[in-house]
Amino acid sequence: MTSQNQQTTVIRNGTLIDGSGGSAVENEAVVIQGNRITSVGRIPPGLNLEDKESVRVIDATGRWIMPGLIDGHCHLSFGQPAMPGVSIGRGTASAEFTTLKAARNAQTILRSGVTSVSIPGGTWFIDVALREAINAGMLEGPRIYCAGRFIVTYGSISDNEPSWVGTPEHLNGVLANNVSDMVTEVRRQTKHGVDFIKMADSTWGDTQTISKEELSAVVDEAHRRNARISIHSRGSDSTRAAAEAGMDWIMHADLATEADLDAVAEAGVRIMPTVTFLKHAVENGRDFGRSEQEVDQIKHNLEGAVSVLETARKLGVKVMCGTDTGNSPVMPYGLLHANEAEIMVKYGGYSPMEAIVACTRDNAFSVGLENDLGVIEAGKLADIIVLDKDPVADVSVLQAGRHLSWVIKDGKIVDLDPKGDGEETVLSLRPAAD
Ligand SMILES: [Zn+2]
Repeated sequence: MTSQNQQTTVIRNGTLIDGSGGSAVENEAVVIQGNRITSVGRIPPGLNLEDKESVRVIDATGRWIMPGLIDGHCHLSFGQPAMPGVSIGRGTASAEFTTLKAARNAQTILRSGVTSVSIPGGTWFIDVALREAINAGMLEGPRIYCAGRFIVTYGSISDNEPSWVGTPEHLNGVLANNVSDMVTEVRRQTKHGVDFIKMADSTWGDTQTISKEELSAVVDEAHRRNARISIHSRGSDSTRAAAEAGMDWIMHADLATEADLDAVAEAGVRIMPTVTFLKHAVENGRDFGRSEQEVDQIKHNLEGAVSVLETARKLGVKVMCGTDTGNSPVMPYGLLHANEAEIMVKYGGYSPMEAIVACTRDNAFSVGLENDLGVIEAGKLADIIVLDKDPVADVSVLQAGRHLSWVIKDGKIVDLDPKGDGEETVLSLRPAAD
């Protein structure tokens, strides 16, 4: 028997949106061998489509073919959304329970058409373990590129306990209040296999909690250890300092001024605004227990983030797409991973094609695969989705897996209906009780 991985898969016909930003075109065949795309365009001579033993044909007539979506900012192991009936000790029940839940989350994400996720922070080293399990074929899930716990100082996001409690292991942040502790933490995390380091400044960007000298020291150590580095920075000064310190990309940047973004452009640093969470929290936060005051704060950051989107486009700063799915009860899995594209179009002045490129080719950087992923062309990794509606005409077609016909990850077709009950990727805003 031929295993699925050795088989040739051919996606016949359909309209190809290759992820490079070029126009959508009618296509004859995308050929996949193993986990790579081997040709795009005409059916290669010598390929026998009738050889049912070794060639599987997907007929995409009347459908749209594009690279698998990448969510550049998604958390799997925060223990969120909270589950009814499951007691929670300080955010997560236990490493064991949270690991199982994270594995389940990964499957939900993949079935919504997201074939890769960048995970800027989690609890313990759960995301590293999940990445290894998925890569080893033990369970299904998206490609994972992950950080460990955020490196934070007193007053940064996730430092919510009194100083005599500190940051126990089950928190997504770890305190390091001087360069020496920060560097030690980078060494500890890279030893345990993280792909990148996540630092985190203040929650909403009102104060700068990490100095530029500290940022530079951590950037140097991360890079010396072949890890990338990113930062949660919503503030103006913190964003400028992060760019000047040589962060690989900056998450949020909500309150950055045009002058700050000039510094970001000058440094050639990418940003990932992650407006989806802000918008979703403003619209639904009250239902999930956020106070009026907090919703007002988020509204302020949302306004900043939208103007950052526009200014970044004007200045030519590369924008990547993330959603912050899994960061809190308001952000369920499988539903919102493509919403950033619609936000870019509706509020940021981007074309649908530019937004699609931000979620595919440009987001490949956020998973460390910028030369290998996010574009459908010969030689690239075979992560592909097929849709029954045109995402260039309406980019919201990409959301919540509603229009998926097929998901292919690493050359393998994902079963979108694993229970066989005809209920394909039915996702709702409220987390399921199971
Ligand atoms: Zn986050």
